[in-house]
Amino acid sequence: MNETGLKIKILGEPVLRKKAKPVKKVDDECRQLLSRMSRLMYAAKGVGLAAPQVGLSRSLIVVDIGSGLYKLVNPKIVKKEGSQKLEEGCLSVPGVYIKVRRAKKVRVNALDEDGRQLTIDAGDLLACVLQHEIDHLNGKLIVDYASLLQKLALRKKLKSHKNKVADERLPEPEAKFPKL
Ligand code: ZN
Repeated sequence: MNETGLKIKILGEPVLRKKAKPVKKVDDECRQLLSRMSRLMYAAKGVGLAAPQVGLSRSLIVVDIGSGLYKLVNPKIVKKEGSQKLEEGCLSVPGVYIKVRRAKKVRVNALDEDGRQLTIDAGDLLACVLQHEIDHLNGKLIVDYASLLQKLALRKKLKSHKNKVADERLPEPEAKFPKL
């Protein structure tokens, strides 16, 4: 716990797998939460944070890749273009880095903290981070993009960290060996 009163949830916590609920009204409570989430993101040296990562199943994300802070309510990807593969980490999956293929450009519609409609056209890293955070709102994590071999290695790694919960919750690799 820290001055924000929020704590980052780690792989294994069910809230990370739930679909976040859309925010009906952008009010003071919502603005306060966005601002606490931003402070926690900066304190954790992250470039993005989604509400489910602090245990709240609500459609809110904050993103700052160094070019300004976005506080977004109900963000939705409405357009995708091209492809890129960047190595990603996640505050909820500490110590794990996975190359994830995503769109190179995205258009995101959202509400800002005053409840006004906002459209962001993002490319490269910003596009990647927005897609990563919006994945969180859909219960999706970077481990879901891992290959079979990576998943096996991850299970080992998380086990060696004695992270029992995480180990239990990590999806079983789907082996598709030919039947002989
Ligand atoms: Zn993440």
